[in-house]
Amino acid sequence: MGFFDKLFGGSKEKQSTTMVVEAPPCPHVVLVPRWDAASDIGITEKASRFVCEGCEQVFTPEEARALQASASDRLPEQVEEKSLEERLADE
Ligand SMILES: [Zn+2]
Repeated sequence: MGFFDKLFGGSKEKQSTTMVVEAPPCPHVVLVPRWDAASDIGITEKASRFVCEGCEQVFTPEEARALQASASDRLPEQVEEKSLEERLADE
């Protein structure tokens, strides 16, 4: 008795398309100063911490200073390309 039991295993591939929302990295441009001491309110130099307006991440004054420094330092670099044409007179 030729009895072939072909079991076609239904290949059920779960194609789970997960929606990945990639948020662009926050540039931390707007940093809002926060003060612990009421007497220091208004004085940016005496701010105890800075909160990013975009992502609400808290930075220390040093970090905020570095961020603002790097943000203002983004100047287009002018690279001078020196094309050296060497003519070798070969006799
Ligand atoms: Zn941010």
